[in-house]
Amino acid sequence: MSDKKKQDRASWAAIAVLVILAAGVALFFVMRDTEAADRAGTRVFICAETLKEFDHRVQPGEHVPVLSPETGRATGYPAEGCFWTKLPNGEWGYKSEPTYVLLNKYQGKDGPTLCPDCGREVVPHNAQKLPKRSERDKARAAAGGS
Ligand SMILES: [Zn+2]
Repeated sequence: MSDKKKQDRASWAAIAVLVILAAGVALFFVMRDTEAADRAGTRVFICAETLKEFDHRVQPGEHVPVLSPETGRATGYPAEGCFWTKLPNGEWGYKSEPTYVLLNKYQGKDGPTLCPDCGREVVPHNAQKLPKRSERDKARAAAGGS
């Protein structure tokens, strides 16, 4: 075999490796996007009887309360995420991992629902009432982050 042919074979092998790597990378991104979509369709529910959290993906046409794996009955209600926290200096801050709270109305209780973590009132679609970015930055700075 001539050196030229060996070189050709080597470069084809290199191209083949690159193609396989590219396919692998593409597959990785496709899989990752699918997982993200899966997570997006899944939200946290709380069983009104056991007060345990569970992940549930709402199906088209499904109504609240949903079937709770804790009771085996329709006692699951969507949890509201509270992203607030009380900072050591007494100010309100932002946390990235919410505390999940079951609204009082789902438990047949009157009055505002208060977050057990920070004491702030939790309302339907609570996660949309996020602290302003400036407050998040303050919280991050207070926590010693960058
Ligand atoms: Zn809270």
